[in-house]
Amino acid sequence: MKIRSELFIGGEWVTGTGTLPVVDPAVGEPITEVAVAGERECAQAVDAAAAALGPWAARAPRERAEILRRAYELMTAEADDIARLIVRENGKVFADARAEVVYAAEFFRWFAEEAVRVSGDYRLAPGGDKRIIVTHQPIGVSLLITPWNFPAAMATRKIGPALAAGCTVVLKPATETPLTALAVADVLARAGVPAGVVNVVVAAPTAQRVREMLHDPRVVNLSFTGSTEVGRVLLHEAADQVVRTSMELGGNAPFLVLADADVRAAVEGAMIAKLRNGGAACTAANRFYVHRAVADEFTAEFSRAMAALKVGPGLDPANQIGSLVSTFERGKVAELVDQAVGAGGRPVTGGAILAGPGAFYPPTVLAGIEPDAAILDVEIFGPVAPIVVFDSDDEAVARANATPYGLISYVYTGDLRRGLQIAERLDAGMVALNRGVLSDPAAPFGGVKQSGLGREGGFDGIHEFLETKYIAADI
Ligand code: NAD
Repeated sequence: MKIRSELFIGGEWVTGTGTLPVVDPAVGEPITEVAVAGERECAQAVDAAAAALGPWAARAPRERAEILRRAYELMTAEADDIARLIVRENGKVFADARAEVVYAAEFFRWFAEEAVRVSGDYRLAPGGDKRIIVTHQPIGVSLLITPWNFPAAMATRKIGPALAAGCTVVLKPATETPLTALAVADVLARAGVPAGVVNVVVAAPTAQRVREMLHDPRVVNLSFTGSTEVGRVLLHEAADQVVRTSMELGGNAPFLVLADADVRAAVEGAMIAKLRNGGAACTAANRFYVHRAVADEFTAEFSRAMAALKVGPGLDPANQIGSLVSTFERGKVAELVDQAVGAGGRPVTGGAILAGPGAFYPPTVLAGIEPDAAILDVEIFGPVAPIVVFDSDDEAVARANATPYGLISYVYTGDLRRGLQIAERLDAGMVALNRGVLSDPAAPFGGVKQSGLGREGGFDGIHEFLETKYIAADI
């Protein structure tokens, strides 16, 4: 597969105002230089999206659906190549990268199916004086901003519904992982997406370029996935032009193991919930609350499974945990662990940076964590599991909810009724009950509190790109 490293604007691959290196974090060496968009290129991308909007919105939904379906097929056929590219710029292991590409492609398939199912409403008003006609129209040019941790899936989770709805987009991928976004643009172009409908700009300096685009009156919608910190800044920026926003932000997921849980199943689930993407997932289990009755058994079994994992470069199929995205990110993880250990936490396995080149950190289990430990307040974003012991369900729920975040919670119990009752009490947009993973393109993904606004995927996702219009008619 040819690695695309130019900007994609108006259906053309173009150079920008300079270049930036894209680094392979497993070796600490550049893979290539990627073109950077300055003010002019970002404005050209918005021009192209604005010019393409009318014709694209006017295309028959079935035609838009068929183009998305072709993109799904191409991406699935090329999954191995795209996965290798993800490994190289992100550091995750090949199995995780391949699973991401399959998941990412599914958003094209799901939204190909949704494109032809946008419904409306036709009613007689209660007063009998008019007809109430409700229809949904594409909102318009949308700015999409994505993080580095799922460089393919976070892009397709936005592009799929946007194109299905009839919108055109400018995608600004994370500077750490731009090559995957450009590969997705290449797939879309070959699938038949018309020029200007999808544009990709690696913008720098990021904050300034994004601010300019959010102040262009043609940009009416912002779909952002990233940290709560940056999301908050963008909500302020978007307010100036009252740009509609959809925000998929940070998480701080609690993982509850109740006294009646099947400990073996809970350990299996914990491994997935903690280690998908090497722990660099907004859905990653971040705080383990385990009932005292099963705490020793869970900690021992979980630590044994974590210690057995092989850490190393993601392209080697023997490795199960790859590199973090950068040594900077690894430094943040190491600092959190050191601080937790300084405060009395006990590393049962892992707990120290691995020697050698590359941004590797070993799977780590920390026992004896106090409920008020600082490590429980932030997203760790690495393969580190702090365990806190609790004594009652009420205590577990209170601790789980004691955070400004509310993306996802995990619960393990042998009693479905009890599990559902607890699921209803958890402040989270999503709850995984006796499961270590829940992401599914057919389900609404999103958080409450400071984890976000809006939902992606499912039946809801397309509505982030549609406006509701009411027509009052006398007949
Ligand atoms: P980040 O917030 O640092 O960056 C996200 C994107 O915003 C990148 O494209 C980045 O270049 C851009 N950006 C950064 N500063 C900006 C600014 N001032 N103005 C405009 N754009 C700016 O996040 P990250 O480190 O790339 O990703 C990790 C975060 O993303 C975690 O907090 C994780 O939980 C979150 N995340 C959330 C979801 C979700 O669905 N809720 C999914 C994946 C990741």
